[in-house]
Amino acid sequence: MRTCIGCRERGRRADLVRLIARGERVVVDERASAPGRGAWLHCRSACLEQAVRRRAIGRALRMQGPIDDHAVWTWFGAIERAEHRVE
Ligand SMILES: [Zn+2]
Repeated sequence: MRTCIGCRERGRRADLVRLIARGERVVVDERASAPGRGAWLHCRSACLEQAVRRRAIGRALRMQGPIDDHAVWTWFGAIERAEHRVE
């Protein structure tokens, strides 16, 4: 079980994605296998929004200063578009 840094609820690892720091950028670690510190988030943009609002990503990843989370927003946007296509 992992705790989502957005909604703070616990979930199965399969329902969460792992975020990692790359310098000042935050990226999705799709295989959840990169070494180092990771932060877990549900695959829902609502959880990403909550995490960003609370600055939980930088805190969880021990990042200093401003963070670039553009790649994460892009990844979540692609997931949600894919889900809508299925419906
Ligand atoms: Zn969540």
